[in-house]
Parts: sequence; structure tokens; C-alpha cells
Amino acid sequence: MQMITSEQQVLLQQQLLIELSKIKEKVKTRLAVSSKKYLNDLVDQVDYMNADVLIDNLMLSESHSLSLYKQQIQSIDAALQGIELGLYGLCSDCEAPLTIDELLVCPTKQRCQGCETKYQQQKVKGYKL
Ligand SMILES: [Zn+2]
Repeated sequence: MQMITSEQQVLLQQQLLIELSKIKEKVKTRLAVSSKKYLNDLVDQVDYMNADVLIDNLMLSESHSLSLYKQQIQSIDAALQGIELGLYGLCSDCEAPLTIDELLVCPTKQRCQGCETKYQQQKVKGYKL
């Protein structure tokens, strides 16, 4: 199994950061057209918020599209934190290394195939982690 090199990790980190700023732009566009004043007011703050604060704010909105962005921001942020902690590319449940092929397809991948399947099954049963 081919594991991720530090050069590949830097590339993926850059990709994740680009993706995050793209989503922030989409969030801003969506917030600006909201009928709710407190969401309009957030537009100018998005760039200054760290991911946690942004996620908290988006959780308050009842918009479906914003909650999708919130999930994307969460998974990108988790991947970026994994890079900082030196845990990137490891399954978050069993710590098995993910392959570079898997990570290139999906840089925010958090679980190996076995754990992902288990996780999805538990989610379906309404068992939240
Ligand atoms: Zn696993």
C-alpha cells in the first residue's frame, strides 16, 4: 500500500485551503441574499472567522444550503487539523493508513473503507457519533 508523502500532504493541504475559501465565498453569497437580517450581517465577518466560529454561526441558520456548506467546512477543517496534528491520512476510527489514491480522490476522507461502511450503517440506524 502506497502511503502519503510529505510533499503530497502539502499539495493536499493547499487544495483543502483553496476549497475552503471557495466555500466561504459561496457562504457569503448565500448569506447576502438571505431574508434574515442577522445572516446578512455575517457576510463581512466570514473572512475573519475561524472554521469553528463559522460553523457555530451557520448552525443557527435554518437554511438547507448553508447546512450543506457547514458540513463541507467541517470536513475540510477536520482534515486541516489532522495535517497540523500529524494524523492526516489515518483512519479516524482504527488509525489504518489511507492510500494516496483515496486521498487524491477525496482529500477530506476520514475513514478507511471498513470503518466508513460501519459508520454509515450506524448513521442509518440513527446512532449519532
Ligand atoms: Zn478504519
